[in-house]
Amino acid sequence: MSVFFTRKKACFAAGCKRMVPSRRLMCKEHWLLVPHSMRVEIYAGLDLWQSGRSPKTYLEAIQRARAFVAEAEAKLARK
Ligand SMILES: [Zn+2]
Repeated sequence: MSVFFTRKKACFAAGCKRMVPSRRLMCKEHWLLVPHSMRVEIYAGLDLWQSGRSPKTYLEAIQRARAFVAEAEAKLARK
């Protein structure tokens, strides 16, 4: 019998408790709020980090995306 084990973590968006696969940054709902240009930055930063460079670019990119998502949600809530 084989056991399927998926590592999961909480969505990176502020206040979101949804669990996502560990290779994903955010749940689908929040990731869809992240603009394309920021996704590109995140992937580029991740590439740098994985190729042995500093994680700084990646960490800054995900913080920007997190702030952007929080702002987008606040705007939606005001409507
Ligand atoms: Zn989420």
